Amino acid sequence: MNTKYVFVTGGVASSLGKGIVAASLAKLLQARGLRVTIQKFDPYINVDPGTLNPYEHGECYVTDDGAETDLDLGHYERFLGVKMSKANNVTTGRIYYTVINKEREGAYLGKTVQIIPHITDEIKRRMLLLGKSGEYDVVVTEVGGTIGDMESQPFVEAIRQLQWEMPDEDLITIHLTLVPYLSAAKELKTKPTQHSVQMLQQAGIHPDIIVCRTEVELHDDIRRKVALFCNVKRGHVIQSIDASSIYQVPLNMEQEKLDELVLKHFGIDNLPKPDFSKLENYLEKLHNPKSEVDIALVGKYVELQDAYKSILESFIHAGAENCVKVNVHSIHSEHINEENVAEKLSAMHGILVAPGFGERGLEGKIAAIRFARENKIPFFGICLGMQMCIVEFARNVLGISDAASAEVVPSTANPVIALMEDQKSTTIKGGTMRLGAYKCELLKDSLAYKIYGKELISERHRHRYEFNSKYLELIEKAGMRATGKNPDTALVEVVEIPEHPFFIGVQFHPEYKSRPEEPQPIFVNFVKAAIDYKKNA
Ligand code: GLN
Repeated sequence: MNTKYVFVTGGVASSLGKGIVAASLAKLLQARGLRVTIQKFDPYINVDPGTLNPYEHGECYVTDDGAETDLDLGHYERFLGVKMSKANNVTTGRIYYTVINKEREGAYLGKTVQIIPHITDEIKRRMLLLGKSGEYDVVVTEVGGTIGDMESQPFVEAIRQLQWEMPDEDLITIHLTLVPYLSAAKELKTKPTQHSVQMLQQAGIHPDIIVCRTEVELHDDIRRKVALFCNVKRGHVIQSIDASSIYQVPLNMEQEKLDELVLKHFGIDNLPKPDFSKLENYLEKLHNPKSEVDIALVGKYVELQDAYKSILESFIHAGAENCVKVNVHSIHSEHINEENVAEKLSAMHGILVAPGFGERGLEGKIAAIRFARENKIPFFGICLGMQMCIVEFARNVLGISDAASAEVVPSTANPVIALMEDQKSTTIKGGTMRLGAYKCELLKDSLAYKIYGKELISERHRHRYEFNSKYLELIEKAGMRATGKNPDTALVEVVEIPEHPFFIGVQFHPEYKSRPEEPQPIFVNFVKAAIDYKKNA
């Protein structure tokens, strides 16, 4: 069988859940036994989202192979359990970078380098790359942006050319739109969908399936109207109704027969029906919590939910695992200080200090850590959150008042967090952090070992600074332990305070690997500690 390609475009508005619909379809096909992967093409000029502020584009998701990618890749991994890689996220910047480098090498032999064919050829090459590996039966490609945007035109043109070049049964296009409900008129409106499909058709693409995002059920008349005016077959207009959990969407898409339509188009039949008992079990637990816990997420990008997407998802998974609802209270670290910290945090059953960069809000993070440490509230620090544990401990327990991270006070006499050796010569910002999966060895008598149940773990990273080992002895003598280290470089990955019921800081980002059916163990145990704390409070 030839590799099959699914292209998912979006229209009318952004944030309709294109990534979730694409991932849901991929999950449905995977659950029927096909080998499926999914990739995202983003229309911005940044070579990758690593240099983007989370306010711009939400969280930067990091893969095992160290790619800094769009947060939709997090959804893909969480839905499919398939590891994403550098090849799964391509931006306009990356495409141009490759083409311009080739031009400089003289590879175009004197030709004028143009959007068509050179840029579109490179886009097509990338679109087919994963499929060519022979590892997949189906490659789902989500095209970022909204149809009609100037930026995404070369991607759309590349799909048009592929549609023309490939056998019909090897490629299918799905267009996701919005059917708004006007509550005053009590009516669903199809015109935006019609216009969006018209625009897609002007670009030469005729969608095979239209998925309509809607907040109320789409009745038959509306479906028929969309089918008629958008010129697709009856039954090829399906709804994506607002769901209580994103993990409900694959089940909704199955009910709408999205997978059946796609398989029929590909000429694939006789595949077994998907077995979603594990996912259903997860949803059952998620929707029937026995109690609640309140956890503070202390960070500086809290205004934007997407900035901490993987952390929020990890709490949902860990909550379901513990049969509790985790109420995550996002608290801006800039609004916390020594004076108001008790008022802000004393009702919490757990405190998480988030990853981040730069100086803004750091003192608030330190105040939150001190409060958690002194009041024995379950605490979990991630990356910058772990680094600030060291600063807080050095300042308030060891009495080193000028202890700081060299990231914010490069001239400090006591850089308890210092720039990693191999970062010292780095001047370029893009793609140069310590990125991706590294091993970490845990001490057998540690909390971390209890949590993971094994000595050697692997987690993902994204940082430039590290625990300065010159201070290790001093810090350990005072009661904080380094319980996890990289076996090759001895870089400190995990710190704990054994005197505290649950205090753990990790240099890595465990949130990237949590999945609904495989919740991340630190999150699971942190939530469990919060439940215990609540019981005893
Ligand atoms: N800014 C810190 C560093 O570069 C922490 C990074 C993070 O939290 N991801 O080391």
